[in-house]
Amino acid sequence: MTDFTMTTDADGVATIVWDTVGKSMNVMNQQGFLDLDALVDQALADDAIKGVIITSGKEGTFAGGMDLNIIAKMKESAGDDPARGLFEGVMDMHAVLRKIERAGMDPKTNKGGKPIACALPGTALGIGLEIPLACHRIFAADNPKAKIGLPEILVGIFPGAGGTTRLSRKLGAMGASPLLLEGKLNDPKKAKAAGVVDEVVPADELLSAAKAWVLSEPSIVKPWDEKGYKMPGGAPYHPAGFMTFVGASAMVNGKTQGVYPAAKALLSAVYEGALVPFDTAIKIEARWFTNILMNPSSSAMIRSLFINKEALEKGANRPEAPDQSVKKVGVIGAGMMGAGISLVSALAGIEVVLIDSTQEAADKGKSYTTAHLDKGMARKKVTQEKKDAVLGLINATTDYDALKGCDLIVEAVFEDVGVKADVTAKVQAVTGPDCIFATNTSTLPITELAKASADSEKFIGIHFFSPVDKMLLVEIIKGKETGDVAVAKALDFVRQIKKTPIVVNDERFFYANRCIIPYINEGIRMVKEGVEPSLIENAAKLVGMPLGPLQLVDETSVDLGVKIAKATRAAMGDAYPDGEVDEVLFWMFDQERLGRKSNAGFYSYDEKGKRGGLWDGLAAQYPVADEQPDLITVQHRLLFAQTLEAVRALEEGVLEDIREGDVGAILGWGFAPWSGGPFSWLDIIGAPYAAERCDQLTAEFGERFKTPDLLREMADKGQDFYKRFGTAAKAA
Ligand code: NAD
Repeated sequence: MTDFTMTTDADGVATIVWDTVGKSMNVMNQQGFLDLDALVDQALADDAIKGVIITSGKEGTFAGGMDLNIIAKMKESAGDDPARGLFEGVMDMHAVLRKIERAGMDPKTNKGGKPIACALPGTALGIGLEIPLACHRIFAADNPKAKIGLPEILVGIFPGAGGTTRLSRKLGAMGASPLLLEGKLNDPKKAKAAGVVDEVVPADELLSAAKAWVLSEPSIVKPWDEKGYKMPGGAPYHPAGFMTFVGASAMVNGKTQGVYPAAKALLSAVYEGALVPFDTAIKIEARWFTNILMNPSSSAMIRSLFINKEALEKGANRPEAPDQSVKKVGVIGAGMMGAGISLVSALAGIEVVLIDSTQEAADKGKSYTTAHLDKGMARKKVTQEKKDAVLGLINATTDYDALKGCDLIVEAVFEDVGVKADVTAKVQAVTGPDCIFATNTSTLPITELAKASADSEKFIGIHFFSPVDKMLLVEIIKGKETGDVAVAKALDFVRQIKKTPIVVNDERFFYANRCIIPYINEGIRMVKEGVEPSLIENAAKLVGMPLGPLQLVDETSVDLGVKIAKATRAAMGDAYPDGEVDEVLFWMFDQERLGRKSNAGFYSYDEKGKRGGLWDGLAAQYPVADEQPDLITVQHRLLFAQTLEAVRALEEGVLEDIREGDVGAILGWGFAPWSGGPFSWLDIIGAPYAAERCDQLTAEFGERFKTPDLLREMADKGQDFYKRFGTAAKAA
């Protein structure tokens, strides 16, 4: 069986149907390209065939894209000279698409050739749009659920099978930029308005419309193969084009801070390609694409943001247990977190009982969902029926009896052991023995809280991040006695609400907060040392952190920091290492500069709450030192502070899977996504260098940078985290 088959009808129109064997959506692999190539050859050689339609055998979709597992492995399988091997592989792909585009035309006169239409029943992504772009006309079914676009940039690469060159020549650099640089996806009507597809037709007329066009003896020469072709909006040396490229370059650097190589390479491919004929432009695109595939950042991003993220979402670490999909969830505490948890649950179609101590508080929690849906309605994304249906799923009440029949409880009341214990007992007096009880605590040990439960096997942590509806990660925490069914329940719930789970063991601050706190603390510690605050903040951003540590304190609030510091100090006693950090933090607290919420923190804010520059009053208390550290030192302090904590979490068994460590770091707190996460970053810089650098940082700044034993051992043996702990290593 092959993924592509061809049939020819009585009118001489051949239809090539793409139907990837064993998958619900078409994905391209190397064999698929060979099969498509052979059919195109056959169609072009057969005099009885007048033209071709390429379409999909999957109902309602064309293709999801290239199998990224293959892209991730292309480098490894490209032989001793991987760059050459990759380049040649990419050029082979181009040859197939260029053959479709030229369709047998005379190279000089552009005469002859057979029309090739592409008929998209629905979603067409990545290579699933690059193939249509090589065809002569793109028909899309009027399927509002379909998504059409080139999302490659979002996983650290760019469209490398001609999509970059063809789209920028079809739409101009300006028109193509949201699609290429932001990976923007459109439904068919919007794709037509943007100029990406040529026609939108009713789904049941898709093939007949394509066929009628094929038989209409259309002109099939692409504009860029005509003499005198000019790029829409102007090529780089045209005055308008010049402005576009200058602007795009500035925008890309502003958005990526220069740490995402794919965006820059993409822009270079468009810019350089625009100056030369099409076939040379394709070669340039292939060279930049090879450059990106050779860059360790791209493979790390694909691995974490696509392959491993998807594996975790599909239950890579789910224990064996029957389906645990949640039907009715009880959310206790209708504050900020409970309101968000109710919203995402109801949006997933789950019945919700939202409880608080007063009806007013419960209603306020539910109103968060109302406001969310109203916003959706204003943007025409939500209908009145949908709003009514979602709100109808949420019962906001003070009556614990309403929890009868719940199969999952998520508790999000005040962060207090006593309050939580009281709530646990009250809930369990109503719910049945099979109900799983989850706490959303961010700091209290799950094993401790489980003591208040009638059955600690059914007690678990499901730690959401704020704001719940925006944050993609959910951290599931196993207490010492948590059983497999509870883990499966939590994972099935997270899958229902379309978030990404990691499963970790129960230690102080679990995983995400454990790593982010040292990042914040390192930033504050530098303030105390007299490092210029703007250097701290900019160093963080220039290494790909979404927020500098001081801005992060402002966002999460100084008083929360003070609370956590006090609790940690009480728990750790003399071993508490962060006295210097606390001095700054407590001083800020005394100044009533609590962060964004008080309109005053490490940054200044105007009356409307808009953040301005760093607060200049800080220097009076913590003067800026005459001598400032170099940028790399500041960046290494900030990155190692987080990364070493991740390694310790792995050493201690809090993390059981480095994939979770990397995916969790990027989705949970935005750890420099270009690196693929802390373990991927260590693999990029190499364990020997990492250990050496830690030794230097320890000598200069203290024991918190001490090389963990595991890293030392890996440095001595020259090992990589993914080779030692990755799935391939586990399977071996
Ligand atoms: P919040 O103060 O906004 O909400 C708590 C709600 O619980 C309030 O509405 C309160 O009335 C209600 N409540 C208190 N005692 C109750 C009781 N006995 N019965 C019923 N309702 C009761 O707090 P939050 O920020 O939503 O945090 C809730 C939990 O989530 C805490 O455990 C917190 O550590 C955790 N958490 C918070 C965040 C965050 O960013 N805020 C992130 C992750 C986890």
